[in-house]
Amino acid sequence: MKSALVVVDMQNDFLSGSLALKECPAHENGEEIVEVINSLLENSEWDFIAYTQDWHPSDHISFVTNAKKFKQHVDSTVNVDEAEVYQKVVFSVDNGIRREQVLWPVHCVQDTWGAQLHKDLHIAKGSVMIKKGINSKLDSYSAFYDNDEVHETDLRGILKTNGIQRVFVCGVATDVCVAYTVKDSKKLGFETYLIEDACRGVHHGEISKCKTKMRLDGVHCITSQEVQLALVTDGKPIRNVKGVNCNGERPNTN
Ligand SMILES: [Zn+2]
Repeated sequence: MKSALVVVDMQNDFLSGSLALKECPAHENGEEIVEVINSLLENSEWDFIAYTQDWHPSDHISFVTNAKKFKQHVDSTVNVDEAEVYQKVVFSVDNGIRREQVLWPVHCVQDTWGAQLHKDLHIAKGSVMIKKGINSKLDSYSAFYDNDEVHETDLRGILKTNGIQRVFVCGVATDVCVAYTVKDSKKLGFETYLIEDACRGVHHGEISKCKTKMRLDGVHCITSQEVQLALVTDGKPIRNVKGVNCNGERPNTN
């Protein structure tokens, strides 16, 4: 079975820049996982590797500084003129399309230092770079689709063309772009794995909610130490750290 590693948004702004995770409510440090991901890249046999980059124009709808430039929808409980970081507002775009949006500091603006991948992250030969969040009026957390699932990136097509059946996801943020990528990967029919210790997130409560949902959806939540075993056992149940499969079944010991 062919396996791909998808490395989500390991960009300067999320690791040490304007939206550094260590300044977010969970105070997790994204820089800690650069070496974990490098080990995964170097020590495991991947059939395919993709990296994603949040890649926003400066007038992007997710930036708190741009909130008042967009029209507020009648459903919004937050006034866009007073909206703050992490608040969810509802905008009305393109003649009335309702668009929910969490507001973030300005981050990952195209062609800036903040949008570049961390300097120490290894870039695998033959890998692809998937850019997302390019549309000013529409955010895109998942590596596969924008948040309204209107537009698709090239990732699914590339994975299918390469015969990939299993997708392993790592990077930042666990409860945002990683969670959306995992959800879509599973929905698209890929056997999907979250590499837990190769991820960092924004809110502790949300991180734990997302992982619970992933497990219920049949996503395998494993550690980087278990990746090698998962790659060689090829489709057999993978034990997680608590001794049960992520779908709640006891591991098959036969
Ligand atoms: Zn973004």
